[in-house]
Amino acid sequence: MPKDWCPFDPGSGRVPDHFDVFIYPNDFPAFSLDSAPFSPEPGLYAKTGARGSCDVVIYHPEHNLAPSQLSAGHWRKVVDIWIKRHRELAAQPDTQYVYIFENTGVAIGVTMPHPHGQIYAFPFVPPLIERELCAASDYFRDHAQCIYCRILREELGSGERLVTQNADFVAFVPFFARWPGEIQICARRHFAGIVDLTDAEATSLAALIKKVRMKYDNLWGFPIPLMMLLRQSPVKREHPYFHFHIDFYPIQRSPTKLKYLAGVESGAGTFLNDTVAEAKARELRETEPRD
Ligand SMILES: [Zn+2]
Ligand SMILES: [Zn+2]
Repeated sequence: MPKDWCPFDPGSGRVPDHFDVFIYPNDFPAFSLDSAPFSPEPGLYAKTGARGSCDVVIYHPEHNLAPSQLSAGHWRKVVDIWIKRHRELAAQPDTQYVYIFENTGVAIGVTMPHPHGQIYAFPFVPPLIERELCAASDYFRDHAQCIYCRILREELGSGERLVTQNADFVAFVPFFARWPGEIQICARRHFAGIVDLTDAEATSLAALIKKVRMKYDNLWGFPIPLMMLLRQSPVKREHPYFHFHIDFYPIQRSPTKLKYLAGVESGAGTFLNDTVAEAKARELRETEPRD
């Protein structure tokens, strides 16, 4: 097999010869629909089972295109395939959570430069999601309002942590940012996941993802290694307290340094962030493309 052979390239024999966006089954899946069903057993080493799925979403047929170089129109096609695949996976009886995300950059361990993201269907609600759900649900119960709607009002009011916005979505550096230049894209309207997007909102979301990605890559003139994580409610039952958003975790803390999760982060669960949210937001706001 030639050294530069890429299974995601049209003509590889592994994907169609012509496509815009393509769902590709992961060659080394952590979860599989064929594995034993979820059967929590009592005892010290209880297993959750691994019945689920791991898909790769090939964003574009071109191998060397950074995600920031995809057009807003093309990002809309990615959003559409997320919605379609989400519906299919959510319909599986064992799926509890559909996790749509992207790791990008060699520093994050991505060996494949071809632009792609991933979709995992979990047979359980993953622990960090569970923690966020609990906190959002507690706030909703105690204050009779959604924590995300409240934060959004706060951010739009002060404006000091805003990065960019459009008719349906707002991007800001959260007050509680843990990563240098962390951005949250939050929906203006209250809804729990991508399947609730209106047609106009899907277009707005694609446009804002494109803009945020361009800002990241224009910040220091090279593609920043990052994680893009869609935050949605679990697929079973209603979750009226939850509010759809996307988190971006960049791991580059300066043009030459990466942020590592060392003793204090990994062992104590406390992030040391050497940037201030307001200053980082201003820097990103002033990076092209500006509003
Ligand atoms: Zn490729
Ligand atoms: Zn809300």
